[in-house]
Amino acid sequence: MTAELGATPSRAELCVDVLAVGAHPDDVELGVGGLLHKLTRLGYRVGILDLTRGEMGTRGSVEERAAEGQNAARLLGAVRRENAGLPDAALANTHEFQLRTIPFIRSFRPRMLLATKDRDRHPDHCAAHHLVRDSAYLAGLARIDTGQEPHRPPVTYYYHPYLEDGAPALIVDISEDFDAKLDALRAHASQFFNPSYGAASTYISSETFWESIRTRAAYWGSHIGVRYGEALYAEGAIGVDLPPGL
Ligand SMILES: [Zn+2]
Repeated sequence: MTAELGATPSRAELCVDVLAVGAHPDDVELGVGGLLHKLTRLGYRVGILDLTRGEMGTRGSVEERAAEGQNAARLLGAVRRENAGLPDAALANTHEFQLRTIPFIRSFRPRMLLATKDRDRHPDHCAAHHLVRDSAYLAGLARIDTGQEPHRPPVTYYYHPYLEDGAPALIVDISEDFDAKLDALRAHASQFFNPSYGAASTYISSETFWESIRTRAAYWGSHIGVRYGEALYAEGAIGVDLPPGL
């Protein structure tokens, strides 16, 4: 997913249409894995940025999780997946961490940003929400000099890795992409239900959690009359030329 050693990718090769950002290396698959697969299937360029390496997780080493993340990104069709190397279980919306996040936003230069929603019990998911939201704005300020051109993504939507937070702004039909979402999640072999992986069990590695992924997608799909859906939240109103449905 990253450029080969010795080759310098051009700016066009680095740019994406959509950048999905998570706090941990499996957040984007849980929240928007179906949407990301749908986008790449339709020809859009998708990038993934994980803010931490998930080093505080009960299962899986940093090396394992990095390899799993790259496999999942390949299954989703993402053009590249990067890691900001910020501290797991200690994410915060500080200026220091903003300055470490901005270069990634300016490198990917997305038209649309997807980030975690706030009001999540996991403090990293809340911190990531505020950190990405503010970094996306600050990335447009030319006087913050990172040696890159400023870039402020025009649109940001938010997702919950495994919770909900009231009525979403949008529900995307992922019926055709749900199996690919599960495949991408299975690529995180250390994290989810996998009886052959010998390690202490956790909530997200339980069979109950694995089943809840399908239940949740079916729940959102039922809101819009399709089999599976993923929910996106927005801040404020979304401008459109005509109301969707015509
Ligand atoms: Zn997470």
